[in-house]
Amino acid sequence: MSGFVFSEKPISIERGEGPYLYDDASTEYLDFGASYAVTPVGHCHPEVVEAVQEQAAELLYVQASYGNGARDALYERLAAIAPGDVGNVWLCNSGTEANEAALKFARSATGNSKIVAAKQGFHGRTMGALSATWKSKHREPFEPLLADVEFVDYGDEDDLADAVDDETAAVVLEPVQGEGGVNPAPEGYLQAARELTDEAGAALVFDEIQTGLGRTGTLWACESAGVVPDVLTTAKGLASGLPMGATLCADWIAEDAGSHGSTFSGGPVVSAAAEATLSVIVEEDLPARAAETGAYLREELHAADLPVRDVRGEGLLVGVEVKRGANRLLKELALDHGVLALPAGRTVLRLLPPLTVERSHVDRVVDALADALGGDG
Ligand SMILES: *Cc1c(COP(=O)(O)O)cnc(C)c1O
Repeated sequence: MSGFVFSEKPISIERGEGPYLYDDASTEYLDFGASYAVTPVGHCHPEVVEAVQEQAAELLYVQASYGNGARDALYERLAAIAPGDVGNVWLCNSGTEANEAALKFARSATGNSKIVAAKQGFHGRTMGALSATWKSKHREPFEPLLADVEFVDYGDEDDLADAVDDETAAVVLEPVQGEGGVNPAPEGYLQAARELTDEAGAALVFDEIQTGLGRTGTLWACESAGVVPDVLTTAKGLASGLPMGATLCADWIAEDAGSHGSTFSGGPVVSAAAEATLSVIVEEDLPARAAETGAYLREELHAADLPVRDVRGEGLLVGVEVKRGANRLLKELALDHGVLALPAGRTVLRLLPPLTVERSHVDRVVDALADALGGDG
């Protein structure tokens, strides 16, 4: 679980502000991984902090069977920003739980059990979500998992057409694969998935836990493809680091969702944090900003003529495929340049900063990369 830096030279992070983190010696790090996409509006955004402090003083928790203003405001906000009619909201505490709910709801609404998922896909580590996750490293120690899962080549419409049939409950896809190497869906692929699931009566589930909330340049990544799923899952940055996930469902899924529950679902404090986070994302039009800064980042990476195999991604979800192991490079970036980023597989460096970063931050990261990769030509 612990990452590269932490195993050899622990960095103890004690404070955060905007795109920056500070360790116990007040050394500054530029967080270009957004701590796993969890800080879309930056660390400790004042509006989020204030909302949390106010709500904490008012009410920390009340069981979900009672109404609550903070939770109601969040329901309303999520329904308003959901794509199409995907405005029925189930709240939980993490990404994997949001996907767990998606799989359960798709099963109960369709009466089927087969799940179609993609190779290289990542959906979480609890038993259901793990069953739809590709990597054997994550799966093998815990097998057997759900029996009825078929994996297809991501981006291959024919493969998908062969897999989806009238026994299929759900097709589960990331619009851009994150952990699997930053792989954007090829043009037309998500549309094809929409048509195939419509024909089969299956649920189309988009896992937007990494791609959502403006990261790819639109509020939801599926918007730029013009495709509305039946279920959309979000988590990671939803509450700026307090634990929260959400499963957004179309009416036909919600009507037959069956019984599902969680004690902490939509607690007041985390709801207030999420509502404040979404309010900043919408009011500051951070999706547009991510599109613009992301384009600049990719331009600058190309212009720097780095000795890399590929630069790809959408908005501020960018993968740089390098010629050597990404972990050593990440360590060098952190310790020599104060730049934190993430891996996406063995040879891909993943850049997914807070959506609020500026061009000067991008310049600093590209310079650091050029320096760290200097000897690789
Ligand atoms: C991180 C992630 C998950 C799992 O979220 P957790 O909160 O860690 O359970 C699921 N799907 C995608 C695409 C992710 O990036």
